[in-house]
Amino acid sequence: MSVQQENITELPGLATPGLGPTGRPKREFPLPPVLKSHGPARIITLCNQKGGVGKTTTTINLGASLAEYGRKVLAIDFDPQGALSAGLGVPSHDRTTIYDLLIGSAKDVSEAIVETKTPGLDVIPANIDLSAAEVHLVNEVAREQILARVLRQVSDRYDVILIDCQPSLGLLTVNALTAAHGVLIPLECEYFALRGVALLVETIEKVRDRLNPAIKLDGILATMYDSRTLHSREVLERVVDAFGDDVLETVISRTVKFPDASVAASPVTSFAPEHPAAQNYRQLARELVARGAVA
Ligand code: ADP
Ligand code: MG
Repeated sequence: MSVQQENITELPGLATPGLGPTGRPKREFPLPPVLKSHGPARIITLCNQKGGVGKTTTTINLGASLAEYGRKVLAIDFDPQGALSAGLGVPSHDRTTIYDLLIGSAKDVSEAIVETKTPGLDVIPANIDLSAAEVHLVNEVAREQILARVLRQVSDRYDVILIDCQPSLGLLTVNALTAAHGVLIPLECEYFALRGVALLVETIEKVRDRLNPAIKLDGILATMYDSRTLHSREVLERVVDAFGDDVLETVISRTVKFPDASVAASPVTSFAPEHPAAQNYRQLARELVARGAVA
């Protein structure tokens, strides 16, 4: 990470007065209303078969921001790498994980839920065991619906469940899409960001046709945006050309605060609460509430 990247102190897009980074008029999203009761959860899958685009970072920090706004949040680590568990400071070895719930070696979902240091944000961890799940599930009846069935047990206790997918479009990701009400696609502001997105959209459409007719695209989230480079702006322009209003107004800046927070096993919203990186994710939370994607 270069020193330059540490110097981002502004929210992106302020270069053009009145316009946000996506080229639309800048908007403030209101504070989410206080919830008087909790559940049932809206389930959102974070999906992109490309690695390193910000799925896990978004799950952690969107989850923490929604929890700050009083939402009860459950994050599901659905990647055998276990980066979500690690990023939230939750050990994932020698304990009940999402794998045990999928293959049925654990029946009670509560047994797998771990509270994080962020009040209101819980996680179901994963570890490398999960890499064997696809092979185990391939001969199961209704193999695409196993995660949906698992989550039904705890849905009433949460306002939102976020599923952090692994970088693949295999059976686990299809399970995550089948379980979801909505899908959020993080896209890194880099050349080739759009490569593979057609295949992802095709997969979502197949799942909608065959398994989950109600699934919605909740939004495309531009991540790792650097407002000082023409490159980042051009990529974002192309993303907006391709997806129009599906591109969220909120754009996540590129800053080393994110890897720093990962090392500290903490959301950036508590690691550096005043940093623009934390503000970015709070704004994302407010935008998703304003769009009706979260209660
Ligand atoms: P994915 O889950 O899609 O593979 P991650 O969220 O793990 O992606 O991000 C990949 C790497 O990029 C991590 O090291 C993470 O800390 C870093 N990262 C994520 N978002 C940003 C950002 N906005 N700015 C800088 N680095 C980021
Ligand atoms: Mg990840």
